[in-house]
Amino acid sequence: MIVNCPQCKKPMSSVAPLCPKCGFARGDVTEEQLTEFQRRKLRDRIYHLKMTSYFAISLLLAACGWYWWESSDFSRPPSAVPIILVALGTVGYLVTRVLLFRAKKALRKLR
Ligand SMILES: [Zn+2]
Repeated sequence: MIVNCPQCKKPMSSVAPLCPKCGFARGDVTEEQLTEFQRRKLRDRIYHLKMTSYFAISLLLAACGWYWWESSDFSRPPSAVPIILVALGTVGYLVTRVLLFRAKKALRKLR
């Protein structure tokens, strides 16, 4: 049977001891189940961070290409957009790498 989690209102199995979304515990939960939940959450997080960092690096490369292409045309002034995108891609990539590093460290601690 599917019920709604009392904490986050997301659907969950009525036999599951933990809500898969927020970790809300219904009844007795063993240490092992809690650890497994945290591990799964971290693996999810690492997956999403990896996707974000791939996106950031693609943005960075595309913006570099754009900048290079624009700067080869001396007849008009270069626009600021590719430079802003390069900056955004770099910052986004660095931030996701730091978050990834921290999430991986936290996952190692759970093992
Ligand atoms: Zn929940």
